[in-house]
Amino acid sequence: MSKKESDQNQEKVSIDTRLVHGKDFSSAWNFKNHVVPPMTSNTTYRLESVERGAQGFAEFGGDEQEHPIWVYDRLDEPNNLMLEEQLAYLEKGDNAVTFSSGMGAISAVCLATLKAGDCVYSDPTIYGCTYSLFSNWLPKFNLDVKWKDSQKKDFLDKPPENLRLVYLESVANPNLKIAPLKQICDRVKEINKTRAPDKKVLVAVDNTFATPLGCKPLSLGADFSIQSLTKNIAGFGTELGGAVVTKKEWSTPLKVVRKDFGAVLNSKSSWHILNHGIPTLNLRFKKQQESARKISAFLLEEKEVEQVLYPSLKSHPNYENAKEVLTTDENGDINAGFMISFTLKGGNERTKNFINFLAQKSYSITLAVSLGLTKTLVEVPRLMTHSSLDDSASAEGDISAKLIRLSIGIENPEDIINDLKSGLEHITK
Ligand SMILES: *Cc1c(COP(=O)(O)O)cnc(C)c1O
Repeated sequence: MSKKESDQNQEKVSIDTRLVHGKDFSSAWNFKNHVVPPMTSNTTYRLESVERGAQGFAEFGGDEQEHPIWVYDRLDEPNNLMLEEQLAYLEKGDNAVTFSSGMGAISAVCLATLKAGDCVYSDPTIYGCTYSLFSNWLPKFNLDVKWKDSQKKDFLDKPPENLRLVYLESVANPNLKIAPLKQICDRVKEINKTRAPDKKVLVAVDNTFATPLGCKPLSLGADFSIQSLTKNIAGFGTELGGAVVTKKEWSTPLKVVRKDFGAVLNSKSSWHILNHGIPTLNLRFKKQQESARKISAFLLEEKEVEQVLYPSLKSHPNYENAKEVLTTDENGDINAGFMISFTLKGGNERTKNFINFLAQKSYSITLAVSLGLTKTLVEVPRLMTHSSLDDSASAEGDISAKLIRLSIGIENPEDIINDLKSGLEHITK
């Protein structure tokens, strides 16, 4: 098959097929030889001439990735490049840039876009380490981080001249809050009409909870979609990684940040994510979501349960935003994903009692941080992943010590439900 024919076919195939096969003619590997691209284990590349070496540095980070000159792994790397091609495809972006972790990706967006004196608007409901980055580190570089509730109508009224970055999570960790992302991006477009190119407001969205299957922030008008690959994209709990999917003009600045700050994704990790995580993502997501729908419906009926937060439930506080921001499945139902948060009636002690029972007695539910794995995980964010929030931030972000976060795996949902039932029975004794 000629290159051209094959390229045309890859445009026509469904997402399931494309995630299994990847880009047919990637410049990073010749698929004539292997069915699975080999794990690249190499840091530097043979250069035929001084001229070619110089050219490699001169062209580094450029848009022309058809035939990159491989120089050194901190610049570009074949497994990473193939993974980046798949991630850009998944999120409908021009480019993706991988990093060593989700936090590496978030820091890189800050480093690429901000300079001293700039202002950042962030919703207070965000991942604990992002909160720590914004409250402990950015102010050291004279960056002014303002915590603003993105649900409020006046979120972007009269933004200051130095506002450069609006930072949100599409489905927020840990309480699944969903911002009116489309309206926010439209408002930013309005604001940017009168701003010089280097003063334009940019929108960065952490899309980890939703995954690229549940939300496509770039299609809604965002400039950056960030993934902690560690979660559902790697999917098996074996690799750390991060990525930023973006428009063409931000690919080079992000690669330069990666080159100079060094948060490079290890090629052995990207190989696993490319060959195991990505091809099974759709399959895992569908199974997890199907179970999450059943489990959220079960929790809703339980009398010991006070509140269930799952984006496709009409009782979700941001259900209207969910309909606009999240994608739908083949039946037109919201792709609400695999995360469920809920609270129990009674105080914090009862919650602890319930979680400790699961930690010790449950077979299918594991007490652990992280999410998006094949195994079902449970945690109490306020005491674990979000413990770096101070009390006012946790109150503002609606993250109490009663909130329980569940990440649904690929087990049989009936087993997960039975374990939850035993936990609920235990606390009523
Ligand atoms: C886990 C997580 C991160 C950080 O990702 P790492 O890969 O652990 O660095 C960022 N954002 C969200 C929403 C997360 O859940």
